[in-house]
Amino acid sequence: MCGIVGYIGKNRAIDFLIDGLKCLEYRGYDSAGIALKDKKMQVIKSLGRISELENKINEMSVIDAKLGIAHTRWATHGVPSEINAHPHTVGKVTIVHNGIIENVEFLKKQLLDDNVLFKSETDTEVLAAIINKYYDGDVLGTLEKVFNIVRGSYALAIIFEDKDELYAIRKDSPLILGVGDGEYFIASDIIPIVKYTNQYMLIEEGEVAELTSSGINIYFNRKKIKKDILKTSVMSQDREKCGYKHYMLKEINEEPIVLKQLIDKFFDYIKDFPKLSCYEEIHIVACGSALYAGMIGKCLFEEYTNIKVICEVASEYRYNRVLYDRKTLVILISQSGETADTIAALRKAKKENIDTLAIVNVKESTIARESDMQIYIEAGPEIAVATTKAYILQVAIMGLLCYREIGRNEKLDNELGRLPRMLKEIIDHRDEYKKLAKKIFNNEDIFFIGRKIDYAMALEGSLKLKEISYIHSEAYQAGELKHGTISLIEDDMPVFAIITDPDISDKTLSNLEEVKARGAKTIVISNELINDQLLQVVVPKVSAFFQPVLVVPVLQMIAYEVAKLRGCDIDKPKNLAKSVTVE
Ligand code: GLU
Repeated sequence: MCGIVGYIGKNRAIDFLIDGLKCLEYRGYDSAGIALKDKKMQVIKSLGRISELENKINEMSVIDAKLGIAHTRWATHGVPSEINAHPHTVGKVTIVHNGIIENVEFLKKQLLDDNVLFKSETDTEVLAAIINKYYDGDVLGTLEKVFNIVRGSYALAIIFEDKDELYAIRKDSPLILGVGDGEYFIASDIIPIVKYTNQYMLIEEGEVAELTSSGINIYFNRKKIKKDILKTSVMSQDREKCGYKHYMLKEINEEPIVLKQLIDKFFDYIKDFPKLSCYEEIHIVACGSALYAGMIGKCLFEEYTNIKVICEVASEYRYNRVLYDRKTLVILISQSGETADTIAALRKAKKENIDTLAIVNVKESTIARESDMQIYIEAGPEIAVATTKAYILQVAIMGLLCYREIGRNEKLDNELGRLPRMLKEIIDHRDEYKKLAKKIFNNEDIFFIGRKIDYAMALEGSLKLKEISYIHSEAYQAGELKHGTISLIEDDMPVFAIITDPDISDKTLSNLEEVKARGAKTIVISNELINDQLLQVVVPKVSAFFQPVLVVPVLQMIAYEVAKLRGCDIDKPKNLAKSVTVE
């Protein structure tokens, strides 16, 4: 969940490391630290944001060092504190770590028996101690032992006190190696690297990367192996805010463009994919917003294709007993392609020889590489922690897959052609969302209701609001409210109703009346004007396949404006991290 960076080369390491940490701050931001190595090693750490760390770098006597590693943390073991911040040094070994060590207690016990003293509460320090325990000057031999002993996930950048090289290994956590001109980089994702080079390499579990001042060597089973150098299409300007106050707003505003790009390519891209109707059952597995995109898929596939669909959260699916007794397709949805639980769900299905289809944004990701089929949403880098454009494209893909199934027709093709423009017009109504936000931003509880596909959208609206504004919010199936939750309704409590499905709109409206009668302030997001008296946002009516693509951006914009009025750190909400690479 955190970000790690490393540098070796002709320039000062500190410049890339600080710049890189800033790019990765969205992945975790409770504390940060840097290790630089010249003739000697020096480590600085700070609690809080990268800017706090930056204030300390002038204290470093090795500031001109050409080798270094750095970390921005999202704590798993031990509170956010300066002591728990990375890098961690034990003996000759200094590391930064992204991931979680699962057999940490077992390893720690052994080390305590050897009288190792620990300064921090982290699993990472235990990992550093294990590497140090086996280190005898032979890095490859040492790391081979470590691979066999350590369980869990890790992307590691390692400096050995008596070596002039930088080392990296990974298991189930992302890691990219940048290949520059006389300088070489390590980073958790491609974003920090693109300002310096567009060439990169990937390493797999069991491989060791050795970065020297003149190149990168990769080893497997202690033998040097050849790796392809890849080229990324991510551009350096993708890192910028381009005049927007927040990445979230920038990314919402990119939705029409990326949607158009997706629509233009989609049918050609999937022409050789099997139809959904080749399968008797579909499992959609994901976490967070991606799960809610999957729920939209479930509603659409079941309504229009007659295929049974199960949509389940990956953290449960991976442990549940899943019956694969029919010809099944498992669809995994993940923006980063590195979501730990979704990776585990994918591997579970693959173990049973079940076909898997990944819907991901990041091409080089684990989920993309390990699944049988891939649809890349190509939303470009998403920096704001709260997903917006990637979610909209995931939802668009659900609609497009379903539309492909029923057979294309001129009317819907025309509608698709107009969709990006309609979406842009919706996003451009910013004043309307600002006005609405003013009416609700002081409330501490907000509910969302809907039925069927509208409920799936309500879930995303509620999640978006709570994650960035910290307002307590829940989404309910409209009919379920009176079975308990209605007791929480108080005077002036906002209740949003999503109403786009004509078959059940009357039912949801009745539920809305019920909460109104108990004092709620009701707000309707719909595709038809329901009643002049209602507080309502109306979006253009389109076919059910594409309707969510026009509704959810309204909810995203409202969440954004509410969080802004509450003075929240919109791009980096507390306790969250962008790609959830731990269980
Ligand atoms: N498990 C490590 C810790 O708690 C690393 C967490 C991370 O990936 O940021 O320090």
